[in-house]
Amino acid sequence: MSRVIGIDLGTTNSCVSIIDGGKPVVIPNTGGYKTSPSMFAISQDGKRLVGHLAKRQAITNAVNTVSSSKRLIGRRFDSPELKRAAEYFPYEIVRGENDDARIVISEKTFTCPEIAGIIVREMKRVAEEYLGEPVSECVITVPAYFNDTQRQCTKDAGRIAGLEVLRIINEPTAAALAYGLGREQEEKIAVYDLGGGTFDISILELGDGVVEVLATAGNTFLGGDDFDRRLAEYILHEFKDAEGVDLSGDLMAMQRIKDAAEKAKCDLSSLNTTEINLPFIANDADGARHLNLEVSRETLEGLVVDIVKGTLKSVEQCVNDAGLSPADVDHVVLVGGQTRMPMVQASVSEFFGQRPHKGVNPDEVVAMGAAIQGSVLASDDRDMLLLDVTPFSLGIATFDGHFAKLIDRNTTVPARKSHIFTTTRDDQSAVKIRVLQGDSNVATDNHLLGEFVLADIPQASKGVPEVEVAFDIDANGIVSVSARDLATGKEQSITVNATGTLSEEEIERIIRDNESYDLPTAGK
Ligand code: ADP
Ligand code: MG
Repeated sequence: MSRVIGIDLGTTNSCVSIIDGGKPVVIPNTGGYKTSPSMFAISQDGKRLVGHLAKRQAITNAVNTVSSSKRLIGRRFDSPELKRAAEYFPYEIVRGENDDARIVISEKTFTCPEIAGIIVREMKRVAEEYLGEPVSECVITVPAYFNDTQRQCTKDAGRIAGLEVLRIINEPTAAALAYGLGREQEEKIAVYDLGGGTFDISILELGDGVVEVLATAGNTFLGGDDFDRRLAEYILHEFKDAEGVDLSGDLMAMQRIKDAAEKAKCDLSSLNTTEINLPFIANDADGARHLNLEVSRETLEGLVVDIVKGTLKSVEQCVNDAGLSPADVDHVVLVGGQTRMPMVQASVSEFFGQRPHKGVNPDEVVAMGAAIQGSVLASDDRDMLLLDVTPFSLGIATFDGHFAKLIDRNTTVPARKSHIFTTTRDDQSAVKIRVLQGDSNVATDNHLLGEFVLADIPQASKGVPEVEVAFDIDANGIVSVSARDLATGKEQSITVNATGTLSEEEIERIIRDNESYDLPTAGK
């Protein structure tokens, strides 16, 4: 039996793990690195590059290099988050057929699931090379705070990569599985995950082979990238003050500043001050200009303190939703590269009144948890039970524009709720239902998952037909809808106009398109 791989498909870095000798092992790529940048590029000579190879040429080929595309996946082109991202990304983002965001590099348009699929395929290749055998099944992790559309897109990415996705699991839950492996006692833990692009907090209860998520909260649009951006803006500003030159329109200079900002930020996790040196950053009538700037940890902290405090609001909500107080939490597990920042650690420690647990590697623990879940699913291991929750309330739009909740946030999945619909006009043959996810009372403030049309309703006076519609959230957090006519007991036909996800034909076209590309090896 081939083995199930666990993939942490991160905004910034991706990681793949398998169970070997009963323990999760992280698989290094060809270059020996245990994580690979979640980047994809088309080089000037038309080659497709993934991972480290894509990252290495990003400065000189910024417009054709895709990074952090997870920030765009499953998002509507018109959404405010997308507009914010588009301002900062050097690559072109266009509107797709389903109002989704698509990426254009080297004059070719890619959907976001396709880019994610290319990265998943690279992780599959890394695993196959290590194992010396083909891999066909996987578990992929997503931020706990991903909605249905983002989850569906991630599942499609797995298919595009040629893998069967046995399960989509939440990143903090995966981290908890890896943390809990081999621990016997009952305990409540908080997993605080701050990566490059997303922030998640989950409170879980472990014990007796059961991992139960009590509550989850977060923000899929907040992460280390925002720290970099603040520091990059500061660098730009300081340079303008000192030299009178505005570099914001210079793509290459901006890419170098962005890179330098990230590096300085990371250095300041272990140093009190660091130098930023970017020679020949500009050239004008007065000759070449060089950027030299010293940045202190204190300066960086001042630039991002509100972001860090902002994460604590979600933490507080999550602890409340779990029905606990901070002191009830036995251990705090930190996940994600950005949690290496001392101010992040200090803020979390202060909130919970304890220092975070140090025993797990924040870059690898999510992939390890995915591998554990993969082996549980493959072997049908009944000794471990994973109970996760849905991060948003699920409901429908009412006639007056309100949001009627059917399944509350933090309900354990799988979950099912049915609702009886009727007609408002005589002989009405169809009813349209808008299904949304979110927590606002105003329907349009929530995320529209799709429109469902109940068709072929038998002729009758208004209010007489009774159609029972069942809303299901499966263990992946993915929503489906079915309907039944109560009078006849017959299944009612339903058409789904999902927004933001790909149609079956599109997925098949993308799979065919990608078959011809044999990607060069990542790493060294
Ligand atoms: P993701 O889950 O989004 O793929 P990661 O967990 O790999 O992200 O974290 C990437 C983020 O962590 C980046 O923003 C990176 O700059 C940041 N990071 C990595 N190392 C450090 C460090 N030593 N100090 C501060 N931030 C760091
Ligand atoms: Mg991550």
